Amino acid sequence: MYNKKTIEDVAVEGKKVLVRCDFNVPLKDGKITSDKRIVEALPTIKYLLSHGAKVILCSHMGKPKGEVNPKYSLAPVAARLSELLGKEVVLTKDIIGEDAKAKAAALKAGDAILLENVRFDAREEKNDPAFSKELASLAELYVNDAFGTAHRAHASTAGVAAYLPAVCGYLIQKEIGIMGKALSNPERPFVAILGGAKVSDKLNVINNLLGKVDTLIIGGGMAYTFLAAKGYGVGKSLLDESKIDYCRDMMKKAEEKGVKLLLPVDTTVAAGFPDPIDAPIDVSVVPSDKIPADKEGLDIGTKTMELYADAVKNAKTVVWNGPMGVFENPTLAKGTISVAKALAESSATTIVGGGDSAAACEQLGFADKITHISTGGGASLEFLEGLVLPGIACLEDK
Ligand code: ADP
Ligand code: MG
Repeated sequence: MYNKKTIEDVAVEGKKVLVRCDFNVPLKDGKITSDKRIVEALPTIKYLLSHGAKVILCSHMGKPKGEVNPKYSLAPVAARLSELLGKEVVLTKDIIGEDAKAKAAALKAGDAILLENVRFDAREEKNDPAFSKELASLAELYVNDAFGTAHRAHASTAGVAAYLPAVCGYLIQKEIGIMGKALSNPERPFVAILGGAKVSDKLNVINNLLGKVDTLIIGGGMAYTFLAAKGYGVGKSLLDESKIDYCRDMMKKAEEKGVKLLLPVDTTVAAGFPDPIDAPIDVSVVPSDKIPADKEGLDIGTKTMELYADAVKNAKTVVWNGPMGVFENPTLAKGTISVAKALAESSATTIVGGGDSAAACEQLGFADKITHISTGGGASLEFLEGLVLPGIACLEDK
């Protein structure tokens, strides 16, 4: 699939290296609430610093919409990064202005600076060639390590690669190594588990995976459109009426390809969606073809949990995207927990992609027993769809 040069394949000593990171960390009252993304970027940064590179870091944060807005300054990131590295990382006042240029030019080998939020300039998201060129002029080598934005063709994620030799950092290397192998040359049996809210969010994922897996498991809100396609009533459950035919086509495609398509045999229902989402809720479990008209399906049922855990047992590769139910509510998290547990207990290569499924694994404490949790929600989804990611395609092949 992808076979890209990494930072270890090029000379970095004494070179000015522009590194695109994903420092889009969650903030509350100006304080970082999780520094996970900064911590994950450290291996690449440390490698470059210890090999005598002059490191120019850059990232976006939030959605400042092309205007300078102190609320989205990377100042808290620079401070946390300095702590974690044990050396000062100075934040420049601008992106490609006088301050950035002066500080980049004055960099010493083994030192790093951080450019201010690249989205403070509207030309970033427009992938403006002049902006990309200016950004590139700060450095002699480009490293992309921001998997979370690799599905976007922006100046700092793809555009700069037109003006500099370009390679990937360790984070992207890991993503394309593990996910790329699973999708192009998986150890079999290969099982994919898809859930989440809507079928329409994942149409292309379903279609692409059906061409690759041995078993496709469907849960979450999207399952009800499949159940409707089988002719079952789904009560008040999430239903994508315009996608019923699509689901029917996918069931047919699975049959033609000899792919086992597993749908919930029972489902956990309640009178309605919990409000607030974590409010106590009365539930019962009913067979999938007996969902009462006045009930809403909010999680897979107990028999289905067993069925799905069983299907994972003999797998050699498992890809999971999307929760099995409304996991934000403890009563409705059981299906998602059972899948997370099945993956954690499996000896297969287990891969979790998707923002909410990754969050569920972390929250539920299974994260360290999963082979790989993708750092990019949207990007990993596009990867599973079989799309080309511009932030990776722009890098040099080995
Ligand atoms: P991911 O981010 O992992 O790709 P999605 O964003 O597609 O996952 O879906 C996650 C959301 O789906 C969660 O907020 C969850 O509450 C919701 N969800 C799961 N099952 C159901 C259901 N049966 N009814 C309504 N919403 C559901
Ligand atoms: Mg999501």
